[in-house]
Amino acid sequence: MGIVSINPATGEEIKVYNELSLDDSFQKLALVNQSWKAWRNSRADERGSLLRNMAAVLRKRKKELAVLMANEMGKPVTQGEAEIEKCAVCCEYYAEYGAQHRADRLVTTEASKSYVSFQPIGMILAVMPWNFPFWQVFRFLAPALSAGNYGVLKHASNVPGCALAIEEIVNQAGFPKNIFSTLLIGAEHVAKIIQHPLVKAVTLTGSTNAGIRVATTAASVLKKTVLELGGSDAYVILVDADLELAAESCVESRLINSGQSCIAGKRFIVEKSIVEEFTALFRKKMQAKRMGDPLDANTDVGPQARADLRDELHSQVLHSIEKGAKCILGGKVPAGDNAFYPPTILTSVTPGMPAYDDELFGPVASIITAEDEQDAIRIANDTVFGLGSAVFTKDIAKGERIAATKLQAGSSYVNHRVLSDPRLPFGGIKTSGYGRELGDFGMHEFMNIKTIYIR
Ligand code: NAP
Repeated sequence: MGIVSINPATGEEIKVYNELSLDDSFQKLALVNQSWKAWRNSRADERGSLLRNMAAVLRKRKKELAVLMANEMGKPVTQGEAEIEKCAVCCEYYAEYGAQHRADRLVTTEASKSYVSFQPIGMILAVMPWNFPFWQVFRFLAPALSAGNYGVLKHASNVPGCALAIEEIVNQAGFPKNIFSTLLIGAEHVAKIIQHPLVKAVTLTGSTNAGIRVATTAASVLKKTVLELGGSDAYVILVDADLELAAESCVESRLINSGQSCIAGKRFIVEKSIVEEFTALFRKKMQAKRMGDPLDANTDVGPQARADLRDELHSQVLHSIEKGAKCILGGKVPAGDNAFYPPTILTSVTPGMPAYDDELFGPVASIITAEDEQDAIRIANDTVFGLGSAVFTKDIAKGERIAATKLQAGSSYVNHRVLSDPRLPFGGIKTSGYGRELGDFGMHEFMNIKTIYIR
């Protein structure tokens, strides 16, 4: 069977890739393993310089990789170039701070010496999504390599070209051969890879359902998982917010990657007295965004990554409208053999609608009216998800109090859209997953945090 790459802007088949059999996959695991002994004992300066090389390779290939993403999953090229730059910055961050993050930590006890040391655990399986085909992988890969770990990648089936390019980039940077290898396999083979004795842990970024499946298999063989799953981030707009800033940030967040971001603002919860003014501003800015060819540098919104995902999104919109939501922008499937979906706004969104209860993974904004501040916080937390959240208010002390103590999420931002940054830990609570990526927390997830005690 083959893995087929289809251009979502045109519906045309780009290429059929041969799928790896399970036997071939196991052989690849053995090859990967041969490189580890030397790598786990490599010096800090060697790891740092290879990570810097990787940043340089990424930058050199930036334009070409952005076109690859545009063709395989529809990301507008300007956003693709920004994604590659972010990967390079992440490699440089761990080149600079990796040694510091994994340095021994002395702890004073009754012992003559006691300390914590951080040691690599070995081969990690990375199961990754298509939406940021490079960033999602590099935010795992850079700290993993810096930690002295190694790994294999099972990427989403619609981005096989990106998956192979990542393996190539690691090799071009000069890392030991096979230290990070791509397995072109379907989701049905993942369980067997998790069960393989050489695989020590699994990280998955993707939907909550995939996370549950992977975590169940990993639990059955007692292997650690880090899960970065779906989200329905709430952006709370309070009565004293700078509405221009709030509307701008909300539109930017909702439309990044054509709406297909786990940390996109998806539910905009607005206090009643300003909902009309906010909605008008928000609509004007959403409407101004240009949908079109992802290869055109002026495009803001490309196609959705696959036609079936676009159809699923549209059905969520239609179900929400059936249940009483009002569509004040977009909401229509464009003609043609492609996967486009326009920026769309639903208002009068209430519980029981997909737009309130579920994740809408595309350029569809749900505006929910709240009675007051307390009600807005209640609605923000009225979800099974807990990835990111944001609050907009000119009262910074109040914003910080709400962000720090009221909003249930892995991260809360004040007057800013939610983003990921190599310096800050990233992850969710509730069904958005567990564990953290990035910063020192991310690196330590896949290390043996070992206590050494000398009498
Ligand atoms: P997905 O369908 O869950 O796929 C993600 C990865 O998991 C793919 O490699 C997929 O392989 C694999 N997979 C799917 N079902 C599996 C199973 N039963 N067993 C093992 N592997 C399985 O998600 P997606 O559509 O690519 O991405 C969208 C979702 O990811 C959204 O919910 C989004 O919020 C979430 N996401 C979360 C984060 C975060 O950091 N929290 C970041 C980005 C995206 P195939 O492609 O072969 O099916």
